[in-house]
Amino acid sequence: MLLDGKIVSSLIRNQIKNEVKSLGKITLLVILVGDNSASKIYVHYKQKACKEVGINCTLLQLDKNITEAELIKIIDEANTNEQVHGILVQLPLPPHLDSQTIINHINPYKDVDGLTVINQGKLFNNLDCIVPATPKGVISLLDYYHIDITSKKAIVIGRSNLVGKPLAMLLLHKNATVITAHSKTKDLGMITKECDIVISAVGKPLFITKEMIKKDAVVVDVGISRINDKVVGDVAFEEVKNITSFITPVPGGVGPMTIASLLENVITCYKKLKGSI
Ligand code: NAP
Repeated sequence: MLLDGKIVSSLIRNQIKNEVKSLGKITLLVILVGDNSASKIYVHYKQKACKEVGINCTLLQLDKNITEAELIKIIDEANTNEQVHGILVQLPLPPHLDSQTIINHINPYKDVDGLTVINQGKLFNNLDCIVPATPKGVISLLDYYHIDITSKKAIVIGRSNLVGKPLAMLLLHKNATVITAHSKTKDLGMITKECDIVISAVGKPLFITKEMIKKDAVVVDVGISRINDKVVGDVAFEEVKNITSFITPVPGGVGPMTIASLLENVITCYKKLKGSI
């Protein structure tokens, strides 16, 4: 069965649209440094998604040579600006800027990406926090389809702060037995073959093949790559799909869930700043 991120995300976005009407003006500030073409596309999608639900998205485009001090000053101003409810610094930043230093200047209550050490530390401790959008979206998708996570053997392939680590933490909090794999993991296929839930967040096209998957496993494909202009995931979907009980397509799986979860995070930040949650 397909884990359809398009359907679930549209339900979430409709809920948000209704909620925004009753909350008033909500502003997300997106900071884009330089002219990375992929980043421009991602920012465009975020702006479009905000517009559709009635969130005001302000884009601040900055020169690629901006200094760390200048960028931090801009973030500090946005932190104290009561008209700004969420701040998103589009990654990657140019190499002369240290992403973690920059991100950690964002007020944790405005940190819609959930990437400050405060939010990541809270997640580690299973406390109320802003959870990064992609891991949050994956869990929402599994929840929507009533996929039981408790006591299941789950593997997350990838250990980035943005996806792999927070996802492993969320699964752990839901009582899965969690394995985290990465580029130095040996015999990956033997490990995945034992798992009930396989989540791949690597970025290598068609990397997960049918030999690696146990019958009736749940497979979630976070990866996004391009082959001849076609968007593909980490999973060789056509050969893997028949073995699984549930599988996400690419596109149309985790991608739309990420956008919906980002919008949810903007609303959560707004409510936290207003003291209503
Ligand atoms: P990342 O920071 O590049 O992390 C990739 C991870 O894959 C790393 O932990 C790396 O291990 C691991 N890896 C690389 N080769 C491997 C191998 N042969 N076997 C096992 N693990 C391997 O990427 P990311 O930001 O987490 O994103 C991962 C993928 O998800 C990308 O394709 C990205 O475009 C996509 N993505 C999709 C969405 C969405 O909305 N669908 C959102 C965010 C990201 P090491 O740590 O050892 O290097």
